Amino acid sequence: MVYRWRCRQCAFGCWAASVDAAAGAIGTHLRGHAESSLRRDDVGVVWQCPHCGTRGETYAGDHDDAVESFETHLFGHAESQLEAGAHIADAVGGTGNVLVTAPADGDAAANARTHFLAHGDDAMIVTAAPAARLRLIDRTLPSWPAATTLVTTAAEPLSGVDIDPEAKSIEVVSLDGRPDLSGVGETLSRAIESRQATGTLSVEFDILPALLSRFELRTVFRFLHLLSSRLDRERALAHYYLDPRRTQRASSNVLEGVFDLAIRADGAVFAAESVR
Ligand SMILES: [Zn+2]
Ligand SMILES: [Zn+2]
Repeated sequence: MVYRWRCRQCAFGCWAASVDAAAGAIGTHLRGHAESSLRRDDVGVVWQCPHCGTRGETYAGDHDDAVESFETHLFGHAESQLEAGAHIADAVGGTGNVLVTAPADGDAAANARTHFLAHGDDAMIVTAAPAARLRLIDRTLPSWPAATTLVTTAAEPLSGVDIDPEAKSIEVVSLDGRPDLSGVGETLSRAIESRQATGTLSVEFDILPALLSRFELRTVFRFLHLLSSRLDRERALAHYYLDPRRTQRASSNVLEGVFDLAIRADGAVFAAESVR
């Protein structure tokens, strides 16, 4: 079950896999709005809720406890605003492209992949790590997509994977290890066109960091723009992954302009600074 919350005071929104996970993220966010209601002096820390006037007080040494109790209190005012059974796709009208910022191959990125792949009938995964992606699907999705297309630079994509590609309708499309961007675009277009299935398509795009390290930012920007229009025509839901440790802040700021939504994945919480 995924819970969604939207801030009533700004454009922030988040999705979380549990109420507990939501509580942490929402409490922290709401404290940001109420920073002036938390005061610290030599003796103690005092907070007073801006909504209901409730006060909390501790000795200064327990600063973290005070902050936590304030956040928990603030979340209490927001808990009834949580919407259950939500999906990030709803925030982009079911189709579109979402940028996911998360450390590569951590739990947060895996949670995001599972969340997005669970949305479509069919999956297309553009990756250099096909075995890990197939194992993730096998382990976390309630059932396999009707069809899965792996577009990959890996030389032997299915080696070491204990999954029968025929039984699971897995098709492999090879991508040149050092392709130019028009080559990547053409390969993807062909893979989309030759799709037999007619269900909705969820497209995972893992190789953005590799492209950014090899091509100029504006070239990648232009490529993403073209790919997005192609996927829009397909009414696909596309999710692109960036590792904040490997990407310059300025680059991700520029890239965000291509996407319908940008989220940060942290554990079981997906947060967006700006939700339409
Ligand atoms: Zn806010
Ligand atoms: Zn209150």
